[in-house]
Amino acid sequence: MLKSMKRKALSGELALIEEIRQRAGRPSGAVRLGIGDDCAILRSPKGSDLLITTDFSLEGRHFRRDWHSARSIGHRTLARGLSDLAAMGGRPVAAFLSVALPISAVRRHGWIDGFLGGFMELANAYGTVLAGGDTSQSPSEHVLADIILLGSAPTGTALRRSGAKPGDDIYCTGSLGGAAAELAQLEKLPKRFRAATADQNHPHLFPAPRVKAGEALRKRKLATACLDISDGLSSDLAHLCESSGVRAEVDAAKLPLHPLARALSEKTGLAAALHGGEDYELLFTARAEVKMPRMLGGVAITRIGRIVARRKNAPLMTLIGVDGTRTALAPQGWEHLR
Ligand code: ADP
Ligand code: MG
Repeated sequence: MLKSMKRKALSGELALIEEIRQRAGRPSGAVRLGIGDDCAILRSPKGSDLLITTDFSLEGRHFRRDWHSARSIGHRTLARGLSDLAAMGGRPVAAFLSVALPISAVRRHGWIDGFLGGFMELANAYGTVLAGGDTSQSPSEHVLADIILLGSAPTGTALRRSGAKPGDDIYCTGSLGGAAAELAQLEKLPKRFRAATADQNHPHLFPAPRVKAGEALRKRKLATACLDISDGLSSDLAHLCESSGVRAEVDAAKLPLHPLARALSEKTGLAAALHGGEDYELLFTARAEVKMPRMLGGVAITRIGRIVARRKNAPLMTLIGVDGTRTALAPQGWEHLR
């Protein structure tokens, strides 16, 4: 009994890996050998540093199968890692995808197809080879996915969080608050409509990692510090300030609100932009004398504040309201294990 069950699960795993291998296509670039052997083989990039990041995507924590389509879950799983590479100006090289799947997901018609479709579409758009992973049956009813992303950047040029200096300006890419606003919409949607959405104009369901903007920042040496906004502007800006040993002032009136956030009340829209999280935009600083282009890598750039020197008893971050009032800005974005 046990043995036959094991066999069945195994043949399922092999068929699934074969499906993944076919969809991943032929290895290219730095990947000499992809899916199919015990390890992938990558050529060490000459004159480059290797950037490596890993991200969990856990059902019930990062997504819900009754809210997110399989396509969206596949897309978001990879987008999180690509956004980390973007934040350091890395060029994506290869992805490794480990998944634990409950039988309910394997049996549900089209689920795996949708998941891999969403994943591979984004991978192909950014020249990321799916070079390996692991596949297991989930011990619970939850889908668990872990992504490892490898990227490269010419030696010593990767962007860091730690280089911001007093006098620098603070910028962000794209728009803020859209992901939180869309998530709030999803929560209110009747169940049968939730998972259906499949097109790409959705900041929460299909975030666009700013890989090209990050590469442009690195190549043109524009940024003194950079990170991606995954937890929320207030939390991620706090990380930048702490790493750089500086303070920040943010102009509320300058924040580029996503249309979905602008459609909310002024207060809720501002909160979505400041604390919402999962916008996957880049937050970066640049010297005040730098002439910043209005667009980078196809995405708008907005100046949203400035870096100032640390001072005793002064808050790490200050929000300057539309009416000029100054209030302390506390990190109120997403934090696990709080
Ligand atoms: P092993 O047991 O030797 O680790 P596996 O059967 O787990 O081998 O995997 C076989 C091949 O398939 C490996 O090259 C592995 O990287 C790849 N692979 C397994 N699962 C995935 C997945 N979810 N995504 C991409 N590649 C995978
Ligand atoms: Mg394995």
